[in-house]
Amino acid sequence: MKNGFIVLWLGLCTCRGGDAERPPADPIKGASGNSEASQDSAAGAAGHREGAVDSGSADISGDLGSMDATDPSRRSLDYDAELWTEVQAEEASIVLDIRYATADNFVGEPLYPCARCFMRPEAAVRLIEAHRALQAAGYGGLKLFDCYRPTPVQARLWEISPDPRAVAPPSKGSMHNRGLAIDLTVIDREGRELDMGTAYDAFSERSYHSFRDLPAEVRANRKMLRKTMAAAGFRPLRTEWWHYTLKGASRPLADFVWSCG
Ligand SMILES: [Zn+2]
Repeated sequence: MKNGFIVLWLGLCTCRGGDAERPPADPIKGASGNSEASQDSAAGAAGHREGAVDSGSADISGDLGSMDATDPSRRSLDYDAELWTEVQAEEASIVLDIRYATADNFVGEPLYPCARCFMRPEAAVRLIEAHRALQAAGYGGLKLFDCYRPTPVQARLWEISPDPRAVAPPSKGSMHNRGLAIDLTVIDREGRELDMGTAYDAFSERSYHSFRDLPAEVRANRKMLRKTMAAAGFRPLRTEWWHYTLKGASRPLADFVWSCG
């Protein structure tokens, strides 16, 4: 266990849900707002979490032809493929390192029953595009740290750390709880993570996209990831180099929990 960064996480990491990604949301819709925390937004850590879903537009369809839920070969799925895509089922070469399925997180205990990565279909198809673009460019592809996060897990995080500056209240939720946000990095062909300058969930200014006092290689790696993800339709979070949200999408909070074994 990495005690050092767990402490950092406990203190500040927005990734565990602090994607309190929107301003006080419409209490009825509960979803979208306009507080997109783009990397260009003004500095200031607290309260700036994984920007809101883009207001309104929910019409990202993506090419879901290869993910047809009516395909007989997919009938034995243990989840609703109209609502969810299991990323590795569609692209087995994507590497998972799902931290909430292990004790290697700020709680120090597993919160997921096992390591599976689900996204909304419109997000999964774009994520796989990004992965394949990286492979075409000579990299190993993406490694995923967190995908869809069930709202009950968000509730547990809130129970442990009820600080809205760091954790999104479950009633408000995170883009992870909507299946539209992803935490990731890039690996080389040997499976080694590219140097992004900090550990995955280290919350500090070093994790900001705007932080300049980093080796040229790190800056180049982050830029390459940003460009790749942007080309696939994702936007970055100003304060976390590892977090990306699908643009123009909106989904309700979800409490689906996958089964194991
Ligand atoms: Zn995140």
